[in-house]
Amino acid sequence: MKKNFVISKQGDIEGFSSFKCSLCGEDFKLKAAEVQEDDVIELFCPICGIPSPIPTYYTADIIEHAETLVMNEAMDMLNDMFKGFERTTRKYKNITFKRGKPLPNIPPRALFENDDLEQIEFLCCNRKAKLSLLSKTIKPFCPYCGVN
Ligand SMILES: [Zn+2]
Ligand SMILES: [Zn+2]
Repeated sequence: MKKNFVISKQGDIEGFSSFKCSLCGEDFKLKAAEVQEDDVIELFCPICGIPSPIPTYYTADIIEHAETLVMNEAMDMLNDMFKGFERTTRKYKNITFKRGKPLPNIPPRALFENDDLEQIEFLCCNRKAKLSLLSKTIKPFCPYCGVN
């Protein structure tokens, strides 16, 4: 059974969502709607300038959130299975199956946006990003085309 999870994370007021470079660990923000455009398959880290596929930029909280959703889904399936099993065994006099407490669902980690970043406009692609103050001391790479 395959199930796709849609993870929606509220962006900040201006519609930016957090991304993190897995290579240099730098946090930055991009507009989720622009990242999800069909022609965007990889992003350039604005700091180290190395292109990587978009999923490698997902922040730990999104991954953790997704893992919790998958875990809860598995728990629900087990709960349903036990329920069904209990119902079936009721028909047989010699077997009693009583399910215990339902397996708990873990509340997914709250996703939030911290906002200590500076908004920068990349004129090459006419797109905006939010970068840490550190990146102002170096010339950031455009996350979309890699121009420095
Ligand atoms: Zn990087
Ligand atoms: Zn660009």
